[in-house]
Amino acid sequence: MIDIQRQREIWRKASKKKREKPEYKAKEYKYYQEWYKKNGRNRSDDYLECILEWAQEHPDRVKVMGKLGRAVKSGKIKKPKTCENCGRETRLSGHHEDYSRPLEVIWLCSSCHKLRHGAT
Ligand SMILES: [Zn+2]
Ligand SMILES: [Zn+2]
Repeated sequence: MIDIQRQREIWRKASKKKREKPEYKAKEYKYYQEWYKKNGRNRSDDYLECILEWAQEHPDRVKVMGKLGRAVKSGKIKKPKTCENCGRETRLSGHHEDYSRPLEVIWLCSSCHKLRHGAT
């Protein structure tokens, strides 16, 4: 479960302080490291912000994504190397056609994923 409210609060404080203090920066960095570790991500803050926006709107889907993430980690689901739509070898994300079936996904690159969502 992602604690969005708390995360947002932390960001607000972080930007207020302008991150001028090195010890603060270190603390913040550590927090992010742990957050990323817990959520299996290692991306920019902007991206994270996007995810959290989305997570706030779709709490049910967050659960589904978590389930999928665990399945991939445990090897239950094999994540391919290339996009199932365009064949590009890049970072892929699982697209759910049906969120009631959390482990049935299509693996798409970010642009195909965007297209897929735009088309429906
Ligand atoms: Zn693609
Ligand atoms: Zn999708």
